[in-house]
Amino acid sequence: MPGFELFGAEERKEVNDVLETGILMRYGFDGPRKGIWKAQELEKAITETFGCQYAQLTSSGTAALTTAMVALGIGAGDEVIMPAFTFVASFEAVLSVGAIPVLVDVDDTLTLNPDAVKNAITPKTKCVMPVHMCGSMADLDALSAICHANNLILLEDACQSIGGTYKGKALGTIGHAGTFSFDFVKMITCAEGGVVMTNNKDVYTKADGYTDHGHDHLGVDRGADLHPFIGYNFRISELHAAVGLAQIKKLNIFLELQKKNNKALRAYLEQIPEVSFRRVPEGGEDSCSFLSWFLPTADQTQAVVNEMKAQGILAGNFYWFANNWHYISKWDHLKNATTLSRISAEQEAALTKLQSTVFADSDAIMSRCISTAISLVWTEEQIQEKGTKMIAVINKVLGK
Ligand SMILES: *Cc1c(COP(=O)(O)O)cnc(C)c1O
Repeated sequence: MPGFELFGAEERKEVNDVLETGILMRYGFDGPRKGIWKAQELEKAITETFGCQYAQLTSSGTAALTTAMVALGIGAGDEVIMPAFTFVASFEAVLSVGAIPVLVDVDDTLTLNPDAVKNAITPKTKCVMPVHMCGSMADLDALSAICHANNLILLEDACQSIGGTYKGKALGTIGHAGTFSFDFVKMITCAEGGVVMTNNKDVYTKADGYTDHGHDHLGVDRGADLHPFIGYNFRISELHAAVGLAQIKKLNIFLELQKKNNKALRAYLEQIPEVSFRRVPEGGEDSCSFLSWFLPTADQTQAVVNEMKAQGILAGNFYWFANNWHYISKWDHLKNATTLSRISAEQEAALTKLQSTVFADSDAIMSRCISTAISLVWTEEQIQEKGTKMIAVINKVLGK
């Protein structure tokens, strides 16, 4: 997954362009910046690479989600249906706009189960937010149909799936809006950064203003800009954008290596009939940032994790079920509504209700799933060693 593995001369060149002018901000200073506009260039590259009409860079993927929600009109008391397996940022963003995260089950795609989404719709539901976890995607046709039938917004958290596609379209460009993260461990990194993508001009214009204190960006004099609404500061800097610009130009190389290494490792695990793999919805193409696989039972999966740990080969293998950042079972701060300042009574009630909500279907999936992160820089020998050791551990646990 991580673009930082192939960081080098290209990134240094783009950053140096900015350092030479000394204009580290993306707006204004038209003369001294000598034609260097890295954030604008990166936004253009994003629209061209992923095939969307508009892209608004932000300071992080979390900020991109918040911005997208605000621009889509999601706010106080609105319910956002999202999966119980995701990164904490997804619900942080929902809470940040005063909305209510409604967590529902995932299926063997490791993303939203469309039936669970249907069952969770109430008169307050405003948005469905699939999270395309670990490089692959939710069943976007099914979710789009549900959103269409119920007049709901589809917002894709594609932060982890840069480069994945569904029926020929880039993930993140299919819903009313979608987001990527460019944090340090994502497919493309800016160190910190994110983007809101949309084909809706109004959503884009709002995202553009919102991320810069509500400035309308219509005049040539920034100081004279009007403020059609209240905004915030979620700007990306030119230095960060410069890194991302170098990275996006190498995306095809990253994806090629990732797919090759994923396939090579998968060939080892496929030798074990008891191992099955994450389902990719029909018409989808996995970005292959992870190889996600299942064992028949939760006990066997835990035993494999324990054995990998004992042998010192657990690094890069994620057992999300017992992981503090990614699964509902460990989100005590969310379930206890532990916030630093007061939240609305409505939000608090929705969060504490999670203490008694059962996610049996998700538990049954996630307790049997291990995701192996795919490195861009593995050699064939390293993959062979990894695959052979993994097979040995699994066979030992299976008693073979
Ligand atoms: C990384 C990530 C985010 C947030 O991105 P940051 O840039 O780290 O704020 C949001 N959602 C998912 C699924 C992520 O993996």
